Order: sequence, then structure tokens, then C-alpha cells
Amino acid sequence: MHKNSASRVTAALAGILLAPVVTHAADNPGAHQHGHAVLQIAIDGNTAEVILRSPAYNLLGLEHSPRTGQQRQQLAGLEQWATSTPLVNTVEGNCITEEASVQSAWPETSRQQGHTANGHSDLEIFQSLSCNGLADQNTLTTPLTDRFPALEHLEVQWISSGVVGLTTLEPGEVRIRIAD
Ligand SMILES: [Zn+2]
Repeated sequence: MHKNSASRVTAALAGILLAPVVTHAADNPGAHQHGHAVLQIAIDGNTAEVILRSPAYNLLGLEHSPRTGQQRQQLAGLEQWATSTPLVNTVEGNCITEEASVQSAWPETSRQQGHTANGHSDLEIFQSLSCNGLADQNTLTTPLTDRFPALEHLEVQWISSGVVGLTTLEPGEVRIRIAD
């Protein structure tokens, strides 16, 4: 179910804004760049569907599936954060996470270390949000740039009422302008 919702947003945004999206970095190494991530936001009335695609490195400091207890805890911590913290919010903080999932595309052979060609992997966080007053907002905020210092360039693609926009957030920038 999560997957279907996520693909709907992806399809909608991909058709408008993007080259086809890949989750397996090995299929398209150019899409996987440490420090970079893409956040897609599809706003419909007071609901929003949000997808973050990022190298696992940016969010976990890991490239591979967790192996040690500590690494598994890191992933569990990220999953817990992602299910309880909206990736975007109104300035007043009105958003509630209705649905969320974290998906990984760990390399099949998890024995491969670090930065060999197939060693890079991405994480995808999908959320369905409900936000009072969202339709009236000019500006949204995101906790991502504060939460993950390794995120140096967060590319934000949004669509709202048929209008699309693109912006990039650097470290310390948390506001996304979605209307004039
Ligand atoms: Zn990598």
C-alpha cells in the first residue's frame, strides 16, 4: 500500500519535473551523490504526500545494511523518527504523519564494503501528511537540514494546485517557499 501511494506521487512529479527516478544507485551511479538528496512534495488541499530520496550515507553515515547492533539501532532510530516527524510542516507545526515508511535499496551482496561501484545505497522515506490550514500556506518548513548535517544540498520539488516549483536548501535553511 505504501509503495503504491509512493509511486503515485513519484509518477505525478516525475512526469513534470524529473528524469525517471531510480532507487538502486547501482543502476544509475550519477543519481547517488553524497550530501545531495531530493525531497518531493505533492500538496492537495490540506494533505501532502512527501518522498525523500537520499544516499543512506546522508541519513545514517552507513552505505550498507546494518550489521552491528549499534547500526541496527541507528536504522531503527531513523525509522522511528521518520514515522513520527513530518518531513515538511507548516510554520505553525500543524502537520500530522498519517502514514510513513522507510525503504532501503541495500546492495544484494551486503558483504561489499563502502564505496565500490555497487556499495552505495539509497534510502527512501515516504509520508502522507495531514495539515490544518495547509492550503493557505505560502511557506513550509523542513527539519531535514537541521537533523542531518551531512545533507549539504537538499533539492526540493513541489507541486500544489497545478503549480510546480523547485528550490535547493543548504545547511541551516529550513524554509520552502511554495507561493508568492
Ligand atoms: Zn554512497
